[in-house]
Amino acid sequence: MTPSSSDCTDTPPSSAVVEARHLVKRYGDVDVLRDVSLSVAEGTVTTIIGASGSGKSTLLRCMNLLERPQQGQLTIADESMRFTAQGPRSGHTDMPVSRHQLQRLRVKVAMVFQQFNLWPHMTVLGNVSEPPVRVKGVSRRKANALAMHYLERVGMAERADAYPAFLSGGQQQRVAIARALAMEPQILLFDEPTSALDPERVNEVLGVIRGLADEGRTMLMVTHEMAFARDVSDQIVFLDRGVVGAAGSPERIFEHSDNERCRRFIAPAA
Ligand code: ADP
Ligand code: MG
Repeated sequence: MTPSSSDCTDTPPSSAVVEARHLVKRYGDVDVLRDVSLSVAEGTVTTIIGASGSGKSTLLRCMNLLERPQQGQLTIADESMRFTAQGPRSGHTDMPVSRHQLQRLRVKVAMVFQQFNLWPHMTVLGNVSEPPVRVKGVSRRKANALAMHYLERVGMAERADAYPAFLSGGQQQRVAIARALAMEPQILLFDEPTSALDPERVNEVLGVIRGLADEGRTMLMVTHEMAFARDVSDQIVFLDRGVVGAAGSPERIFEHSDNERCRRFIAPAA
């Protein structure tokens, strides 16, 4: 069965900061992403939903080149890349994606993972201040100030000297969000940021993410929190076995998607 594409729009918004065109990603002979296109407008929240194994994490990981697609085009915050079977090529100059381009991407795009991925041997302050020093060459003093600012923002400034092992999952995830913010990125990626949390810790993290959405940050998120997704998103993308089965406003996707598999996927939450 070919998923319906009738919910998909092919015209990108003019202010798109993320523009993926015909992305293909395979591992061995397993096609994980099979021609995925999507646009994210500046200052908007896009949530990717879909069954486990549909390629959501892979798609997100392609957005900051943790994974490299084999085919397609990607424009992320003015960095254009074209991928071919021979290897990635950069849009206008036809050069391979260079270390410099990769480094610029690392500065423009920050990711928050399901498992927090904090460095266990560093304090909270160390975890948040290290990336700006390492990746952006910010002075230690400035990085510490930045870190404290964003720790304040997520309500974790008081635990600046704690080590991750002494924090709850919700607190660790808030620190991980502060770490992403301290890079002052143009785009924030969240891959199931609350899936590893105890239920009573979910809301403290969703609250922080909601605050970031309200600030008008550009975010691309994967979550199974359907009510939350519906509430904060400007756009919902339903990924189905490596293709975009449906994409549109939350109202459209949650209330009257043309795509039957999408309707069935969200039915329990409706
Ligand atoms: P989702 O996040 O939607 O659950 P993923 O993007 O993690 O889906 O995975 C999609 C498919 O790709 C799965 O079948 C998974 O087993 C496969 N996959 C993901 N990463 C790898 C990898 N590094 N090597 C091989 N297969 C992978
Ligand atoms: Mg995943």
